Amino acid sequence: MRVKESRIGQLLPSHLSPLTFYYLALYPVNEIFYSLQGEGFNTGTPSVFIRLSGCNLSCAFCDTDHHRHTMMSAPQIVDEVMHFPSAPLIVITGGEPLLHVDNTLVKALKMTGKAIAIETNGTLPLPLGIDWVTLSPKEAFTGGDSLPCVLTSCDELKVVYLGQDLSQYDHIDAKHRFLQPCYVDDFEQRQSNMKSCVKAVLSNPTWRLSLQAHRILKIR
Ligand code: SF4
Repeated sequence: MRVKESRIGQLLPSHLSPLTFYYLALYPVNEIFYSLQGEGFNTGTPSVFIRLSGCNLSCAFCDTDHHRHTMMSAPQIVDEVMHFPSAPLIVITGGEPLLHVDNTLVKALKMTGKAIAIETNGTLPLPLGIDWVTLSPKEAFTGGDSLPCVLTSCDELKVVYLGQDLSQYDHIDAKHRFLQPCYVDDFEQRQSNMKSCVKAVLSNPTWRLSLQAHRILKIR
């Protein structure tokens, strides 16, 4: 188990500087890759994705392979991100990235000069310094309902739509609201999910449709 920054501070000899935290903290990185953001408000934006491993929920429809990982320090992650110097945006995703993201990592990523976005299920508090928060609560789904969503404001609310009552999200303060069809392998079911999502947006026009453009384009 990784020791949190504040705890490390208590354990380290007093002659070691805070910079030591920067090198000691390790994060379980599933993958770092460069692609276009495929979902929500920032769709089409060239982005460096940092996928961290592990989640505190187990949604029945989860198709994210986030279990494999390599432990990396903040400087190692920054080095990888800087392989893509012109990318304007970093997207930290998972799994549930807030199981791991702390102020040390956010400060390190800030040094790249890129904006930092995070995609979270909202069950954990946010560190300071995140530029764009995508909240995707899963309480409406089997396996996603084991922990409450504690985040009540975000830049964009992105909800996977499976016919649930949308009024349950009314209390969330969001600049943008997106409904996204649930992606499944079965073609007929996928088409059906798409149609019901379009119908829901037409009936609830404070929401917008979000398609997973990366799947349509067959890119990562
Ligand atoms: S919150 Fe996301 S990553 Fe976690 S189990 Fe649910 S769908 Fe998968």
